[in-house]
Amino acid sequence: MKAGWNTARIGTLGGPILIYRAACLVNTDIMSANLYTDPAQAHPELREMVRSFARSRIEEQARHYDEKEAFNLDLFRSLGSELGVFGLTVPAEFGGSGLDAVAEVIVHEEMSYADAAFTLSYLAHEVLFVNNLYVNANDELRRQYLPGVINGSKVGGMGMTEPAAGTDVLGLQTVAVRDGDYYILNGSKQFITNGPEGDFFIVYAKLDDRDRREITSFVIESAWDGFKVGKKEQKMGMKASSTAVLYFEDLKVPVTHRLSAENEGVTSMMRNLEIERVTLAAQSIGIASRCLDVMRKYAMEERSAFGKHLSAFGQIQRLIAESYAELAAARALVYQIASQLHPERRNSLGAASAKLIATNMAERVARSAIQVLGGYGYCREYPVERMLRDAILLSIGGGTNEAMQKNIAADLRTAAP
Ligand SMILES: Cc1cc2nc3c(=O)[nH]c(=O)nc-3n(C[C@H](O)[C@H](O)[C@H](O)COP(=O)(O)OP(=O)(O)OC[C@H]3O[C@@H](n4cnc5c(N)ncnc54)[C@H](O)[C@@H]3O)c2cc1C
Repeated sequence: MKAGWNTARIGTLGGPILIYRAACLVNTDIMSANLYTDPAQAHPELREMVRSFARSRIEEQARHYDEKEAFNLDLFRSLGSELGVFGLTVPAEFGGSGLDAVAEVIVHEEMSYADAAFTLSYLAHEVLFVNNLYVNANDELRRQYLPGVINGSKVGGMGMTEPAAGTDVLGLQTVAVRDGDYYILNGSKQFITNGPEGDFFIVYAKLDDRDRREITSFVIESAWDGFKVGKKEQKMGMKASSTAVLYFEDLKVPVTHRLSAENEGVTSMMRNLEIERVTLAAQSIGIASRCLDVMRKYAMEERSAFGKHLSAFGQIQRLIAESYAELAAARALVYQIASQLHPERRNSLGAASAKLIATNMAERVARSAIQVLGGYGYCREYPVERMLRDAILLSIGGGTNEAMQKNIAADLRTAAP
């Protein structure tokens, strides 16, 4: 069967549309009626479905989980069991939707409009684990790990960053030593999204020698002896997404669980970083759209000063107009780069550019929204202060904006004029 986004609506129940993909594998009537051979055909319906779910189910819990600094695991699981947005880029033969990077951008944008922190956990699971595993694993590992993470019963994550190696990722110190049918893994990972809840992780390590500049990737399980979750970080934003240290102490990883060839993990890591950067950029677009909507409504309908709506004042108009124009420009770039992205068509320059432009834009727009709302913007009654705190992470995670500048300059040295 062709890869496609197969949906059969089985009811709206006054809430989000339930989609039923598994049936498409067995029910040929449903399949033929709903099979999309071109992912672009599915994009409008996907956006409508996710927007409806995000605005009715994700938005309502965002402030509570931000204040509690807790992750809403039940709602997260329903993204798989109910909404069906795990495995978007995985072909139907492996239980996914057979869609593309644009579909990922749509979902990240729509969910971030409601709750960027919850969406960060989605990104770690969907992009850093599910997409990464599908693209880089053999069929045996795909069949072992994809069903649980696509139906939402299992949570995934990815461990690249270490306490002493972030931007300088090839300086990582986790080491894997071969012992018969296993590698013995020792080391730690820092700032790992979904660390406390994760069942499966893709991790990067060096074989034998911590000084080498080559890395190898593995898929591991948190239930294995030798896997420990350390301190959960307390953060300024993205509070509804858990971030933790992971420790590996003589963790026995079967040789069959190596993803890359030995010492050849860099290519797969870089390939996945491109879609990560574009989806982080999409999160920025979602945050900025929400902030723009809030500031427009406030200035044009809700708040008056000196007998006029705030939008009558030129300085307020400037904040709104520049936010709109910058968001529109960033949005166009992010969707353009996403439409070109494919595991076999690398675009490091485009992905870094989209992330750099969109994340800086979101910080400016969120800050402008606070300014337009004045004291109310600084308080929690409106979501814009949370949006600014969340937006700042997007200039750091998945490679800092300084790293994006460094990468863009390096790529331009070799790019054709
Ligand atoms: C909430 C959160 C979630 C995260 N989730 C994950 C995850 O799931 N998995 C994962 O592996 N990682 C994750 N990270 C880690 C994130 O990717 C790193 O924080 C990021 O790559 C930066 O690394 P660092 O924090 O070690 O900063 P450093 O690399 O120490 O950088 C510190 C500063 O120095 C600058 N700098 C460093 N090198 C250069 C250079 N050559 N030129 C110019 N400036 C430079 C940086 O831009 C930055 O401003 C997460 C981080 C956070 C905060």
